[in-house]
Amino acid sequence: MPEPTQEDEIAFNRSFEGAPGELIRLSPLVRRMVAGNAGPMTFTGTCTYVVGSGQVAVIDPGPDDKRHIAALLDALRGETVATILVTHTHRDHSPGARALKEATGAQIAGCAPYHPAREGLAAEMGRIDAANDSNYAPDAVMREGDAIEAADFTLVCVETPGHTMNHQAFALPQENALFSGDHVMAWSTSVVTPPDGAMRDYMASLDKLRTRDDRIYWPGHGGPVNEPQRFVRGLAQHRRAREKSILSHIGAGDATIAAIVATVYEGLDPALRGAAALSVYAHIEDLVERGLVCAEGPAALGASYRLA
Ligand SMILES: [Zn+2]
Repeated sequence: MPEPTQEDEIAFNRSFEGAPGELIRLSPLVRRMVAGNAGPMTFTGTCTYVVGSGQVAVIDPGPDDKRHIAALLDALRGETVATILVTHTHRDHSPGARALKEATGAQIAGCAPYHPAREGLAAEMGRIDAANDSNYAPDAVMREGDAIEAADFTLVCVETPGHTMNHQAFALPQENALFSGDHVMAWSTSVVTPPDGAMRDYMASLDKLRTRDDRIYWPGHGGPVNEPQRFVRGLAQHRRAREKSILSHIGAGDATIAAIVATVYEGLDPALRGAAALSVYAHIEDLVERGLVCAEGPAALGASYRLA
């Protein structure tokens, strides 16, 4: 899911190959089928990846979409789905795991079940909670460094909270590749919204990826990130610039999130204003935790803020 942004300082790449129903080969070990859920938040649709051949792992089976799962099973006829991996529990990524497990008997591994991270905020932001698949039930939760081993590949869990609390990426060391889920995507920045998303975690997860030497990322939406180190640095710079701008607006007397959105996101499509408010809130939550900003009363979407 994208974060509303008007800046062009990041080298986004929106090219994409393949249509729903087509399993296309991307590398010796990686194939991809896009789900039929294209839209403003999902770009060309959720990317479902197949890793290995013969005995395969499927990453992010996508939304609850019978046609997508049927097309995937059809394309994998003669092969065995041994493991289903899930990067996070947004409804465009994890629900398909159930149908795929039913059809194949494969084990579901990967991220932890959805659990609202900040209960107090969850009520205020029920709309965002609705983005989560609370029925996701993994057979095994992976943790940092846990690996799925197959004859021709290994998939290693790299915990990357931020977009959601439970977000994980999966490294494929044989190809120096990383399945980056919605944490890092080539087509757009990712949305980081409380109560499940957290800016502090997101920034730490960007820093974590910068210490790795992956050659390519295969994201949850859109085409590959080809120069991941440079791209991730650009994403971090973008967020720091946004944070600076929010701090200067608060310093200038814009006390509410609504006032900050109106100036920081001047000219934004009104339909995206709600998402922009949550994105600003994610920054403010982080700034409050770091002691740079104070809230009048409890920090919340409707609160007033000032510099500490
Ligand atoms: Zn997502």
